[in-house]
Amino acid sequence: MKFSDLNLHRTILQAISDEGYESPTPIQQQAIPAVLDEKDLVGTAQTGTGKTAAFAIPMINMLHPIVGSAKKRKNIRALVITPTRELALQVGESFENYGKYTNIRQLTVFGGVNQAPQVDQLKKGVDVLIATPGRLLDLHKQGFINLDHLHFLVLDEADLMLDMGFINDVKKIIKLTPDNRQTLLFSATMPLPIRELADSFLTDPKYVSV
Ligand code: AMP
Repeated sequence: MKFSDLNLHRTILQAISDEGYESPTPIQQQAIPAVLDEKDLVGTAQTGTGKTAAFAIPMINMLHPIVGSAKKRKNIRALVITPTRELALQVGESFENYGKYTNIRQLTVFGGVNQAPQVDQLKKGVDVLIATPGRLLDLHKQGFINLDHLHFLVLDEADLMLDMGFINDVKKIIKLTPDNRQTLLFSATMPLPIRELADSFLTDPKYVSV
């Protein structure tokens, strides 16, 4: 299978080709059509399987026409929650790479640094927000983040968020998002609390495992 078989916009295919990728990895082959079909998704996949592109590529593909016609950016359309700043930065880089020929604006926020530059960027308007849980809740509490118009919510490395004690923060964040969102959950392992999270907050998800 080639990326060109996946019904993606030319601008996104070009960006993928610029990265030097020809064929989607197994998780990408399963996840990309499901996300494009607006399904919720539970992906059991380790780092290194290409899981970041498995969600970033179809999300960019769906957001591209919406954002392309937006005169003024007001609403966050996609939120990706990651357990660590390193992962947040990696995810941000993927959105940057695959979305480089689109008008999608993305921002990565995490704790432990001055929030002022993050707030400045949020005020300018952001389509895709990548965040660690604590800073996200902090900025939301201060009124800098509105999730009322979110389409996508991604929980990346959910098992690590559990291990790091973020599970209650994650539940709080989910409750700040609209019920009709499309939710994607990725985890290397599926301990019971993560399966329960998926059962409570995802709607008829497709399960993919690599
Ligand atoms: P991830 O599992 O998301 O951490 O990705 C692991 C690595 O695989 C990253 O360095 C990606 O740039 C790379 N990668 C992602 N998709 C592909 C692909 N289809 N072909 C080759 N490499 C890829």
